[in-house]
Amino acid sequence: MKMTVIGYWGAYPEVESATSCYLLEQNGFKVVIDLGSGALSRLQQYTSLDEIDAVILSHFHHDHVADLGSFQYFCLVNQQLNGKKNNVPIYAANDGETNFDLLNHVATKGEAYQVGEDLTIGPFTFSFLKTKHPKTCYAMRITNGENSLVYTADTAFFPELIGFTKGVDLLIAESSFYQGMDGSKAGHMTSEECGRVAREASVGELWLTHLPHFGEQQSLVTEAKSLFTGEIKLAHEGLTWSTGE
Ligand SMILES: [Zn+2]
Ligand SMILES: [Zn+2]
Repeated sequence: MKMTVIGYWGAYPEVESATSCYLLEQNGFKVVIDLGSGALSRLQQYTSLDEIDAVILSHFHHDHVADLGSFQYFCLVNQQLNGKKNNVPIYAANDGETNFDLLNHVATKGEAYQVGEDLTIGPFTFSFLKTKHPKTCYAMRITNGENSLVYTADTAFFPELIGFTKGVDLLIAESSFYQGMDGSKAGHMTSEECGRVAREASVGELWLTHLPHFGEQQSLVTEAKSLFTGEIKLAHEGLTWSTGE
């Protein structure tokens, strides 16, 4: 099981980088989690787009889905040029918003996930928790049966996040704000809140992501360290976590 950061900015990408996007792999099976702005280009530093088996989306804010349409065009061109027959599944919650319909395209198909139902994608099992965010959004807990990780997606702090994250090997937490700020109205967490979730859930390692475009991002790590004494890393493109495959 291998997790690689592709995009890590909140809101918009800075030069030669991308907003939310992560590549999850095991034994050659590849799942892309969120497809933010700039992600499709950066992703090709790490995989051929042709090798992507599935995409899963946390929510429909632009910094998580901006490159979805371009990915669907890739799938279409790939079918036409290379005769690939299977439509690529794109998983998201179907909350009655018209956004879900966008997932069905010539060479992609929308697949719905739900809170309370485990979802199997290749070697991975996903479970979901609705987060506190202005647009309906889901955190994901992912396991391969041996190891596990949680991706918070976008959310303000709420206590249920701790139980959902309990004991995972890796927590990828959004840290859109710095210590002492209030992210709750915007539906985002601070570095301190990420540290608190990591500590109270006893996670193995904490990554801070969905980074702000102001301040010294490295201080997010220092701030989270005041609450969580385990390994903390600031997300950057190519940051990788892996267990024996
Ligand atoms: Zn976001
Ligand atoms: Zn969002």
